[in-house]
Amino acid sequence: NLTPRATTQQLENADQLIDSVETFIFDCDGVIWKGDKLIEGVPETLDMLRAKGKRLVFVTNNSTKSRKQYGKKFETLGLSVNEEEIFASSFAAAAYLQSIDFPKDKKVYVIGEEGILKELELAGFQYLGGPEDGKRQIELKPGFLMEHDHDVGAVVVGFDRYFNYYKIQYGTLCIRENPGCLFIATNRDAVTHLTDAQEWAGGGSMVGALVGSTQREPLVVGKPSTFMMDYLADKFGIQKSQICMVGDRLDTDILFGQNGGCKTLLVLSGVTSISMLESPENKIQPDFYTSKISDFLSPKAA
Ligand code: PLP
Ligand code: CA
Repeated sequence: NLTPRATTQQLENADQLIDSVETFIFDCDGVIWKGDKLIEGVPETLDMLRAKGKRLVFVTNNSTKSRKQYGKKFETLGLSVNEEEIFASSFAAAAYLQSIDFPKDKKVYVIGEEGILKELELAGFQYLGGPEDGKRQIELKPGFLMEHDHDVGAVVVGFDRYFNYYKIQYGTLCIRENPGCLFIATNRDAVTHLTDAQEWAGGGSMVGALVGSTQREPLVVGKPSTFMMDYLADKFGIQKSQICMVGDRLDTDILFGQNGGCKTLLVLSGVTSISMLESPENKIQPDFYTSKISDFLSPKAA
Protein backbone atom coordinates (compact mmCIF):
# COMPACT_ATOMS: atom_id res chain seq x y z
CA ASN A 1 0.00 0.00 0.00
CA LEU A 2 1.57 3.30 -1.11
CA THR A 3 -0.52 5.62 1.05
CA PRO A 4 1.90 7.83 2.96
CA ARG A 5 1.96 7.34 6.71
CA ALA A 6 2.40 9.89 9.49
CA THR A 7 5.71 8.20 10.18
CA THR A 8 8.01 7.08 7.44
CA GLN A 9 8.07 3.47 6.35
CA GLN A 10 11.04 1.60 5.05
CA LEU A 11 10.74 1.00 1.32
CA GLU A 12 9.83 -2.65 0.97
CA ASN A 13 8.27 -2.75 -2.45
CA ALA A 14 10.37 -0.61 -4.76
CA ASP A 15 8.65 -1.94 -7.88
CA GLN A 16 5.33 -0.65 -6.64
CA LEU A 17 6.80 2.82 -6.04
CA ILE A 18 8.50 2.80 -9.46
CA ASP A 19 5.27 1.79 -11.18
CA SER A 20 3.32 4.51 -9.36
CA VAL A 21 5.22 7.48 -10.86
CA GLU A 22 6.40 8.72 -14.27
CA THR A 23 9.31 10.84 -13.11
CA PHE A 24 12.11 10.60 -10.59
CA ILE A 25 13.80 13.77 -9.40
CA PHE A 26 17.17 12.94 -7.90
CA ASP A 27 19.07 15.22 -5.61
CA CYS A 28 22.78 14.92 -6.50
CA ASP A 29 25.17 15.06 -3.54
CA GLY A 30 24.42 12.18 -1.19
CA VAL A 31 22.25 10.38 -3.77
CA ILE A 32 24.18 10.18 -7.06
CA TRP A 33 27.65 11.11 -5.79
CA LYS A 34 29.44 12.09 -2.63
CA GLY A 35 31.82 14.92 -3.50
CA ASP A 36 33.64 13.53 -6.54
CA LYS A 37 32.82 9.87 -5.91
CA LEU A 38 29.98 8.02 -7.54
CA ILE A 39 27.71 6.20 -5.07
CA GLU A 40 27.63 2.43 -5.53
CA GLY A 41 25.06 1.01 -7.95
CA VAL A 42 23.94 4.35 -9.41
CA PRO A 43 24.63 3.70 -13.14
CA GLU A 44 22.75 0.39 -13.11
CA THR A 45 19.82 1.95 -11.22
CA LEU A 46 19.49 4.87 -13.64
CA ASP A 47 19.75 2.48 -16.61
CA MET A 48 16.99 0.29 -15.16
CA LEU A 49 14.68 3.28 -14.60
CA ARG A 50 15.29 4.60 -18.11
CA ALA A 51 14.63 1.14 -19.54
CA LYS A 52 11.26 1.25 -17.77
CA GLY A 53 10.53 4.55 -19.54
CA LYS A 54 10.87 6.80 -16.49
CA ARG A 55 11.83 10.43 -16.89
CA LEU A 56 14.89 11.29 -14.80
CA VAL A 57 15.66 14.79 -13.55
CA PHE A 58 18.61 15.90 -11.41
CA VAL A 59 18.37 18.81 -9.00
CA THR A 60 21.21 20.25 -6.92
CA ASN A 61 21.40 23.20 -4.54
CA ASN A 62 25.13 23.53 -5.20
CA SER A 63 25.37 26.77 -7.22
CA THR A 64 29.14 26.69 -7.82
CA LYS A 65 28.77 25.00 -11.23
CA SER A 66 26.60 25.69 -14.27
CA ARG A 67 24.39 23.15 -15.97
CA LYS A 68 27.08 22.58 -18.57
CA GLN A 69 29.74 22.01 -15.90
CA TYR A 70 27.45 19.50 -14.18
CA GLY A 71 26.96 17.80 -17.55
CA LYS A 72 30.74 17.26 -17.64
CA LYS A 73 30.72 15.97 -14.06
CA PHE A 74 28.07 13.37 -14.91
CA GLU A 75 30.07 12.38 -17.99
CA THR A 76 33.31 12.05 -15.98
CA LEU A 77 31.48 9.75 -13.58
CA GLY A 78 30.37 7.61 -16.54
CA LEU A 79 26.70 8.65 -16.41
CA SER A 80 24.90 9.66 -19.55
CA VAL A 81 22.77 12.61 -18.53
CA ASN A 82 21.59 15.39 -20.81
CA GLU A 83 22.21 19.01 -19.71
CA GLU A 84 18.47 19.63 -20.12
CA GLU A 85 17.80 17.14 -17.34
CA ILE A 86 19.97 19.04 -14.83
CA PHE A 87 18.55 21.78 -12.63
CA ALA A 88 21.19 23.43 -10.43
CA SER A 89 20.38 26.40 -8.21
CA SER A 90 22.76 28.50 -10.37
CA PHE A 91 20.53 27.80 -13.37
CA ALA A 92 17.45 28.44 -11.24
CA ALA A 93 18.64 31.98 -10.44
CA ALA A 94 18.92 32.82 -14.15
CA ALA A 95 15.65 31.01 -14.98
CA TYR A 96 13.86 32.97 -12.25
CA LEU A 97 15.09 36.31 -13.63
CA GLN A 98 13.93 35.22 -17.09
CA SER A 99 10.55 34.18 -15.72
CA ILE A 100 9.92 37.69 -14.35
CA ASP A 101 11.32 39.41 -17.47
CA PHE A 102 14.12 41.02 -15.50
CA PRO A 103 15.23 43.92 -17.73
CA LYS A 104 18.31 43.28 -19.83
CA ASP A 105 19.49 46.86 -19.28
CA LYS A 106 19.64 46.29 -15.51
CA LYS A 107 22.49 44.44 -13.81
CA VAL A 108 22.80 41.59 -11.36
CA TYR A 109 25.30 41.77 -8.50
CA VAL A 110 26.57 38.26 -7.77
CA ILE A 111 27.87 36.98 -4.46
CA GLY A 112 28.78 33.47 -5.55
CA GLU A 113 30.99 31.44 -7.84
CA GLU A 114 31.39 30.71 -11.52
CA GLY A 115 28.23 28.63 -11.98
CA ILE A 116 25.96 31.62 -11.38
CA LEU A 117 28.01 33.90 -13.67
CA LYS A 118 27.91 31.35 -16.51
CA GLU A 119 24.16 30.86 -16.25
CA LEU A 120 23.47 34.62 -16.16
CA GLU A 121 25.66 35.09 -19.19
CA LEU A 122 23.91 32.31 -21.12
CA ALA A 123 20.55 33.90 -20.31
CA GLY A 124 21.84 37.26 -21.60
CA PHE A 125 21.91 39.17 -18.31
CA GLN A 126 24.51 41.76 -17.37
CA TYR A 127 26.29 41.05 -14.12
CA LEU A 128 29.09 42.18 -11.85
CA GLY A 129 30.75 40.69 -8.78
CA GLY A 130 31.57 36.99 -8.47
CA PRO A 131 34.94 35.52 -7.42
CA GLU A 132 36.87 38.62 -8.66
CA ASP A 133 35.38 40.74 -5.89
CA GLY A 134 36.91 38.31 -3.41
CA LYS A 135 40.23 40.03 -4.01
CA ARG A 136 38.96 43.50 -3.13
CA GLN A 137 39.85 45.09 0.17
CA ILE A 138 38.25 48.09 1.81
CA GLU A 139 40.57 50.70 3.21
CA LEU A 140 38.64 52.62 5.78
CA LYS A 141 40.18 56.09 5.59
CA PRO A 142 38.20 58.95 7.19
CA GLY A 143 35.33 60.00 4.96
CA PHE A 144 35.64 56.91 2.74
CA LEU A 145 32.48 56.21 0.77
CA MET A 146 31.97 53.06 -1.27
CA GLU A 147 30.38 53.68 -4.66
CA HIS A 148 27.97 51.20 -6.20
CA ASP A 149 26.36 50.78 -9.59
CA HIS A 150 22.81 52.17 -9.48
CA ASP A 151 21.79 49.96 -12.42
CA VAL A 152 21.92 46.88 -10.19
CA GLY A 153 18.33 45.60 -10.00
CA ALA A 154 19.01 42.24 -8.35
CA VAL A 155 21.51 40.75 -5.92
CA VAL A 156 21.99 36.98 -6.23
CA VAL A 157 23.64 35.23 -3.29
CA GLY A 158 24.95 31.66 -3.37
CA PHE A 159 27.75 29.60 -1.87
CA ASP A 160 30.96 31.60 -2.16
CA ARG A 161 34.42 30.53 -1.05
CA TYR A 162 35.68 34.03 -1.91
CA PHE A 163 33.19 35.77 0.37
CA ASN A 164 34.42 38.91 2.13
CA TYR A 165 33.37 42.19 3.72
CA TYR A 166 33.57 44.08 0.41
CA LYS A 167 30.87 41.83 -1.05
CA ILE A 168 28.64 42.18 2.00
CA GLN A 169 28.86 45.96 1.83
CA TYR A 170 28.35 46.11 -1.96
CA GLY A 171 25.30 43.84 -1.87
CA THR A 172 23.94 45.71 1.13
CA LEU A 173 24.23 49.08 -0.62
CA CYS A 174 22.46 47.73 -3.72
CA ILE A 175 19.56 46.40 -1.65
CA ARG A 176 19.23 49.11 1.00
CA GLU A 177 19.58 52.07 -1.31
CA ASN A 178 17.15 50.73 -3.89
CA PRO A 179 13.91 49.40 -2.39
CA GLY A 180 13.06 47.83 -5.77
CA CYS A 181 16.26 45.77 -5.89
CA LEU A 182 15.56 42.02 -5.78
CA PHE A 183 17.31 39.86 -3.19
CA ILE A 184 17.62 36.30 -4.51
CA ALA A 185 19.26 33.33 -2.78
CA THR A 186 20.22 30.21 -4.72
CA ASN A 187 19.85 28.13 -1.53
CA ARG A 188 20.08 28.38 2.24
CA ASP A 189 21.77 25.06 3.13
CA ALA A 190 23.17 25.52 6.64
CA VAL A 191 26.10 23.19 6.08
CA THR A 192 27.61 21.15 3.27
CA HIS A 193 30.08 18.29 3.14
CA LEU A 194 32.92 19.82 1.12
CA THR A 195 35.12 17.09 2.57
CA ASP A 196 33.88 14.00 4.33
CA ALA A 197 35.93 14.91 7.42
CA GLN A 198 33.49 17.50 8.79
CA GLU A 199 30.57 19.79 8.06
CA TRP A 200 31.38 23.11 6.34
CA ALA A 201 29.39 26.35 6.44
CA GLY A 202 26.95 26.25 3.49
CA GLY A 203 25.27 28.79 1.21
CA GLY A 204 22.97 29.76 4.06
CA SER A 205 25.88 31.44 5.81
CA MET A 206 26.46 33.94 2.97
CA VAL A 207 22.74 34.55 2.61
CA GLY A 208 22.49 35.03 6.38
CA ALA A 209 25.08 37.82 6.32
CA LEU A 210 22.98 39.80 3.83
CA VAL A 211 19.78 39.09 5.75
CA GLY A 212 21.52 40.53 8.80
CA SER A 213 22.63 43.71 7.09
CA THR A 214 19.55 44.38 4.94
CA GLN A 215 16.87 43.07 7.30
CA ARG A 216 15.20 41.65 4.21
CA GLU A 217 14.30 38.05 3.44
CA PRO A 218 15.54 36.67 0.13
CA LEU A 219 13.54 34.88 -2.50
CA VAL A 220 15.00 31.36 -2.57
CA VAL A 221 15.07 29.68 -5.98
CA GLY A 222 16.67 26.36 -4.92
CA LYS A 223 15.24 23.56 -2.78
CA PRO A 224 12.94 23.56 -0.78
CA SER A 225 11.23 26.48 -2.55
CA THR A 226 8.68 25.59 -5.21
CA PHE A 227 10.29 27.61 -8.02
CA MET A 228 12.36 24.79 -9.56
CA MET A 229 9.58 22.24 -9.11
CA ASP A 230 7.04 24.47 -10.87
CA TYR A 231 9.59 25.31 -13.56
CA LEU A 232 10.53 21.76 -14.44
CA ALA A 233 6.98 20.39 -14.13
CA ASP A 234 5.90 23.09 -16.55
CA LYS A 235 8.84 22.56 -18.89
CA PHE A 236 8.32 18.80 -19.20
CA GLY A 237 4.54 18.87 -18.75
CA ILE A 238 4.65 16.56 -15.71
CA GLN A 239 1.95 16.24 -13.07
CA LYS A 240 3.47 16.61 -9.63
CA SER A 241 1.58 13.62 -8.26
CA GLN A 242 3.47 11.59 -10.88
CA ILE A 243 6.86 12.57 -9.43
CA CYS A 244 8.94 10.88 -6.76
CA MET A 245 11.54 13.19 -5.19
CA VAL A 246 14.59 11.27 -3.96
CA GLY A 247 17.02 13.01 -1.61
CA ASP A 248 19.31 12.65 1.38
CA ARG A 249 18.35 15.82 3.21
CA LEU A 250 15.10 16.42 5.06
CA ASP A 251 14.91 20.24 5.16
CA THR A 252 15.81 20.72 1.48
CA ASP A 253 15.03 17.63 -0.64
CA ILE A 254 12.16 16.01 1.22
CA LEU A 255 10.51 19.36 1.95
CA PHE A 256 10.97 20.29 -1.75
CA GLY A 257 9.07 17.15 -2.73
CA GLN A 258 6.38 17.71 -0.12
CA ASN A 259 5.96 21.39 -1.03
CA GLY A 260 5.46 20.26 -4.61
CA GLY A 261 2.90 17.56 -3.75
CA CYS A 262 5.21 14.73 -4.89
CA LYS A 263 5.95 11.35 -3.38
CA THR A 264 9.17 11.44 -1.36
CA LEU A 265 11.94 8.93 -0.72
CA LEU A 266 14.79 9.58 1.71
CA VAL A 267 18.05 7.74 1.08
CA LEU A 268 20.49 7.22 3.92
CA SER A 269 23.57 7.41 1.63
CA GLY A 270 24.15 11.12 2.44
CA VAL A 271 23.79 13.42 5.42
CA THR A 272 20.75 11.96 7.21
CA SER A 273 21.01 8.97 9.53
CA ILE A 274 18.15 6.79 10.69
CA SER A 275 18.42 8.31 14.18
CA MET A 276 18.01 11.82 12.73
CA LEU A 277 14.96 10.65 10.79
CA GLU A 278 13.43 9.05 13.87
CA SER A 279 14.35 11.85 16.30
CA PRO A 280 11.30 13.45 17.99
CA GLU A 281 12.76 16.81 16.95
CA ASN A 282 12.40 15.95 13.27
CA LYS A 283 9.11 17.19 11.86
CA ILE A 284 9.74 16.21 8.23
CA GLN A 285 8.65 12.68 7.41
CA PRO A 286 9.23 11.36 3.88
CA ASP A 287 6.81 8.77 2.54
CA PHE A 288 9.58 6.16 2.45
CA TYR A 289 13.22 5.66 3.28
CA THR A 290 15.86 3.25 2.06
CA SER A 291 19.64 2.99 2.30
CA LYS A 292 20.60 3.96 -1.29
CA ILE A 293 19.02 4.20 -4.74
CA SER A 294 20.46 0.88 -5.90
CA ASP A 295 17.99 -0.74 -3.47
CA PHE A 296 15.62 -0.27 -6.43
CA LEU A 297 17.48 -3.13 -8.09
CA SER A 298 16.66 -5.66 -5.38
CA PRO A 299 13.16 -4.57 -4.43
CA LYS A 300 12.36 -7.05 -1.69
CA ALA A 301 15.68 -6.64 0.09
CA ALA A 302 15.65 -2.86 0.38
N1 PLP B 1 26.02 23.68 -1.71
C1 PLP B 1 27.31 23.31 -1.76
C2 PLP B 1 28.35 24.36 -1.79
C3 PLP B 1 27.67 21.96 -1.76
O1 PLP B 1 28.98 21.62 -1.79
C4 PLP B 1 26.64 20.99 -1.74
C5 PLP B 1 26.98 19.58 -1.74
O2 PLP B 1 28.10 19.17 -2.03
C6 PLP B 1 25.31 21.41 -1.70
C7 PLP B 1 25.03 22.76 -1.70
C8 PLP B 1 24.17 20.45 -1.69
O3 PLP B 1 24.07 19.83 -2.95
P1 PLP B 1 22.87 18.84 -3.26
O4 PLP B 1 21.61 19.65 -3.34
O5 PLP B 1 23.24 18.20 -4.57
O6 PLP B 1 22.84 17.85 -2.15
CA1 CA C 1 21.89 16.20 -1.13
